[in-house]
Amino acid sequence: MKKIPQMEPWFDENEQTAMADYLKGDAWLTEFKKTEEFAKMLAEFTGAKYCTVVNNGTISLTLALLAAGLKPSDEVIVPDLTMIASANCAKMIGADPVFTDIEKRTLCLDIQKAEEKLTPKTKALIYVSYNGRCGDIDAIKKFCRKNNLFFLEDAAQSLGSYHGKLHLGRIGDIGSFSFSVPKIITTGQGGALITDDNKTADILNRIKDFGRTRGGIDFHDFIGYNSKFTDLQAVIGIEQMKKLPGRIKRKKEICRLYMKLLYHIPQVELIPTNLDETLLWFIDIYVQEPDKLQAFLKEKGIGTRRDYPPIHSQKAYNLKEHFPVTEYYSSRGLWLPSSSKLTDDDIQYVCDCISEFYKR
Ligand SMILES: *Cc1c(COP(=O)(O)O)cnc(C)c1O
Repeated sequence: MKKIPQMEPWFDENEQTAMADYLKGDAWLTEFKKTEEFAKMLAEFTGAKYCTVVNNGTISLTLALLAAGLKPSDEVIVPDLTMIASANCAKMIGADPVFTDIEKRTLCLDIQKAEEKLTPKTKALIYVSYNGRCGDIDAIKKFCRKNNLFFLEDAAQSLGSYHGKLHLGRIGDIGSFSFSVPKIITTGQGGALITDDNKTADILNRIKDFGRTRGGIDFHDFIGYNSKFTDLQAVIGIEQMKKLPGRIKRKKEICRLYMKLLYHIPQVELIPTNLDETLLWFIDIYVQEPDKLQAFLKEKGIGTRRDYPPIHSQKAYNLKEHFPVTEYYSSRGLWLPSSSKLTDDDIQYVCDCISEFYKR
């Protein structure tokens, strides 16, 4: 039987050769020249002036909040539907995530609802371009300026997605990315922060290296931590970056084929998306009984993944609030196989199986 995973890391002899070559030279293993090269590639790809690479896409968010001067008990507006790291990054420094509902159109933060959440303690807003989509992010930016909020974009799912001509992550004060295994390119673990502000970039580079005045010396004029990357990972990251344009191109074809085939299944709700600007990270569908469809597809060798539960309802937070749009889409969301490796036949098979499920 065919086995189609929901997502998988993808590498080949290019990564193998690059790693072998690196280890033959005088490799320092920790972050150095290769990390600089990887960061430069990311800055060039996104069009940002500065890029700092760190150990993962959760710490990156925390470092961004620290760089913006956030303090314990400050409030941070966060969407209720996102990967839990978007909220936990605030918790890590003792700040309070304030959950907010999303808009139906994009499944991203609803700006009207965000306005209702403002208090004198609100110091930052984290906008998650959920699954690569974004709403009226210019309005969000204005809202942040007007209310003096630090505007952090969690673009972990959005490498390859744009707002007009701007790569996502470039509208906010800082944009954050992740290279964890399910992302479009991966270094096993890894994260990056982009900004156009040189002061911010300098602070980020120092916070991740114990607050050192510069690399390799032991003078510290503020408190920093250790969130450095490794050149071992950067060697893989560089090869993955070379493949990114090709993956994006193929992923767009995959998205278009899925949309075309799924469109004819009335039980499947799709979020209408401009696929020129948006690169969907995962193919997301919304159905009445996602668990049953998931079990059926599993029997057919097809891996899927349920959408995140609303964060406020997770045991870790357990808040008695109510976010109708988040709850609706979270309870219906199912992510279909979404690797850039998928063939047209794979996609046809997945969609045929979904049709079969509804015809039974
Ligand atoms: C993947 C992801 C993260 C976390 O990134 P890690 O590198 O796994 O720490 C944060 N936010 C969102 C939206 C993500 O999808």
